[in-house]
Amino acid sequence: MQTHEQEFRQAQQFLKEHDQFLVVSHVQPDGDAVSSTLVVGWLLSCLGKKYVMVNEGPIPKRMDILENSEDIVDLSRQPLDETFDHIICVDCADFKRTGKTSLLFSERACILNIDHHPTNNGFGTFNLIVEKAAATAEILFDLITFMGIKLNLAAATALYTGLLTDTGGFRYSNTSPKVMETASKLLEYGVDGPGLSELFLEQMTFPQLKLLTRALNGLQMSGDGKISWVTVDDEDLSATGAIHEDMEGIVNYPRNIQGVEVGLLFKVIDETAVKVSMRSAGKVDVARVAQHFGGGGHVRAAGARLEGKLDDVIRRVIEQVKAEL
Ligand code: AMP
Ligand code: MN
Ligand code: MN
Repeated sequence: MQTHEQEFRQAQQFLKEHDQFLVVSHVQPDGDAVSSTLVVGWLLSCLGKKYVMVNEGPIPKRMDILENSEDIVDLSRQPLDETFDHIICVDCADFKRTGKTSLLFSERACILNIDHHPTNNGFGTFNLIVEKAAATAEILFDLITFMGIKLNLAAATALYTGLLTDTGGFRYSNTSPKVMETASKLLEYGVDGPGLSELFLEQMTFPQLKLLTRALNGLQMSGDGKISWVTVDDEDLSATGAIHEDMEGIVNYPRNIQGVEVGLLFKVIDETAVKVSMRSAGKVDVARVAQHFGGGGHVRAAGARLEGKLDDVIRRVIEQVKAEL
C-alpha cells in the first residue's frame, strides 16, 4: 500500500471533501463490480455523504443477498435525468466500460477511478489503480483501512465476494499472500465464506447448465490444440431459458483442456457485434489481444467487443491469438 500512498490520500480527500456522489461500475457487472459499488456506497454512508449507485443494466440475481444491492439503479429500467459532478468508477478498465452511466456525468464532472486492471488508461481526474490487487475489492479494503474506518459484516461480505469471484475461489494466479491475508481478516468479521463459495461458484440454475451443455456441444479446437472456443447466441439462450449472466464461467471449460493455451467464448450480441471473453493458461497475455481490439483486462483474463459477424470475428481473434502464441 505504501507505494500508492499518494493515491490513497487523494482518494480519501475526494470522498471527504464533496457531499454528493454517483457510484458506477462496468457494463454486465461481475461479482467484483457489484461488490465494489456496494462497498463504496457503504463507505460514503459511513462518511455521512449522499450518493446514488447506478449500473447500465441489471445486477445478477444471485447478488441479491448482498446488502443494499436492490439500491443499485438499473438504468435500462429506471432512467435518471439528473447529472452528477462527483463520480466514483470502480472496476472499470476504461471510460467506455461505464457504458450508459456516463450520460449521468456532468460536463465538469470530477472522476475518481478505482481499479486493478493493468490496461486501465487512467481516465479519472484522480486514479487509484493498483495492478497488483486481485480485485477492486482488495483496493477498497486497503482504502477503508487507510481511512481508519471499521468494517461491518455486510461490507466485509461484499469485499469477500469481490475477492472470491475475481480469484475464481482463491485459485487463480492473482491469489497473492495478501489476498489470503485480507480474506482471513474478512472471515474474522463473521463472513460466511463457504456459503458465498457455494452461491457464487458452485450453484447453477438448470437453464444455466443446459446452456453450458449446448455451448460445449459446439466446442472447437485449433489444429495444434492450443486454442479452443465456444460460441453462444440468442437462440442458445432462448432454447435453454438461460439468461445473459449464465454465460459467465463457460469460457473456463475450453481453457481447462490440457494443452490449451487460450480458451475463448464468443457471445453474439447482434448481427453486427460479438463480445469475446479470453482466458489464458499463462503463456499468452490475453489483455494484449483484447487491447488490439479495443478491449482490455488482465494477463490471464480479458475481454473485448468486436464489430462484425460471428465467423469473421472468430477468424480475426484467432489470428491475433496465434500471433501472440
Ligand atoms: P470477462 O471475459 O467479461 O469475464 O472479462 C475478463 C476480464 O477482462 C475482466 O477483468 C473484465 O473486466 C475485462 N474486460 C472484459 N471486457 C472488457 C472490455 N471490453 N474492455 C476492457 N476490459 C474488459
Ligand atoms: Mn469486473
Ligand atoms: Mn475486478
